[in-house]
Amino acid sequence: FSSVGGIPRFIERAKGAYVYDIEGKQYTDYIASWGPMILGHAPEVVRQALQEAIVKGSSFGAPTLAETELAKLIVSILPGVQKIRMLNSGTEALMTALRLARGVTGRDKIVKFEGCYHGHSDSFLLKAGSGPLTLGMASSKGVPKDVIKHTLVASYNNRASVEAIFGEHSSSIAAIVLEPICGNMGVIAAENAFLDCVFDCAKKAGALVIFDEVMTGFRVALGGAAQLFKRKPDIYCLGKIIGGGLPAAAIGASSSLMQALAPEGPVYQAGTLSGNPLAVAAGLATLKFLQQNAQQVYQKLERIGARVESSLLASLKKHAIPAVVNRVGSMFTVFFTNLPSVNTYNDVRSIDTKRYARFFHAMLKRGHALPPSAYEACFLSLAHSDEDIKRSMLAFDESLAEIS
Ligand code: PLP
Repeated sequence: FSSVGGIPRFIERAKGAYVYDIEGKQYTDYIASWGPMILGHAPEVVRQALQEAIVKGSSFGAPTLAETELAKLIVSILPGVQKIRMLNSGTEALMTALRLARGVTGRDKIVKFEGCYHGHSDSFLLKAGSGPLTLGMASSKGVPKDVIKHTLVASYNNRASVEAIFGEHSSSIAAIVLEPICGNMGVIAAENAFLDCVFDCAKKAGALVIFDEVMTGFRVALGGAAQLFKRKPDIYCLGKIIGGGLPAAAIGASSSLMQALAPEGPVYQAGTLSGNPLAVAAGLATLKFLQQNAQQVYQKLERIGARVESSLLASLKKHAIPAVVNRVGSMFTVFFTNLPSVNTYNDVRSIDTKRYARFFHAMLKRGHALPPSAYEACFLSLAHSDEDIKRSMLAFDESLAEIS
């Protein structure tokens, strides 16, 4: 809450589209635990899977059939993925993907983009989105200069900046890492020509392309942004939805890349609770539901997303508030700005965060929880009913009137 002011609400419980604070107040939730809760809170399929799993024990430190089933499911969904390695958090997934890329290429440098957030490991804490952007931390204390000197930062949706970096450092770049739809400086989708440039530069340089789909995986489509944009990254990083609300993450790639990971290969990785049976049960239940109902799921999310977007635009126009609404499926952000569009980190840096803070509180007061930062994505879930959306849109309209 440091950027919006006030006191964070402590949450006691959540069900469907709602969270309830410790004073019993209900909020229609657009945070979704920062993305994982695509089925809504405490969905029946996940509760049942967890109840069945917990009685069998909560951690074995050994392989399970459920873990293999989850891996097979993901392999069947993501093109180019032949093996996955389970991890505990998005941060670990990115950290591992990076080590793998460095290990197989024998190179140290990586290219990342301003405004993209890849968790909190050392190599990524430079011009990162999400928390660091909200807190105005271009870089973090405690990160050794000798580590971060290998991180080259390019501008999102800016081909020239990618070409310039590859022009200078081509032979020492292990990987280029990006959120194909950035959700951590607000929602900004990668433009097609920009993605072409990323893949072309990487290919020419012999560098790997890592898609950070921690947020977009299983959300913008069953196969994530890669499916939506018909792209095949070398390494996928997955998190959030893959754990169905419990801590789980993964990286996925071709067998030839994955076999470089220990114990088969020389790139070390391990984790006491990786593939934890509870997290796997929740993730598997969620992914099975999404796969079995894919058409209805993503159609519904697109339908309610489009409805939110058009209502927001109508209210913004009605109250003469300059703003841009960016949306991909069930992820959206309202940027309060005079700019005609928001496609880059520089665009984002110029938004009116004070106005967002007023908007945020106007919504919260009316029982609708948006992210407490102007630089984050709002998320819709399958639990949001038409009636929920209608009520929230009314609140949007009243809140915009209040801040106009
Ligand atoms: N990558 C992206 C795109 C994210 O949005 C996040 C978290 O928000 C992460 C990585 C880090 O994931 P975690 O918070 O699970 O470490």
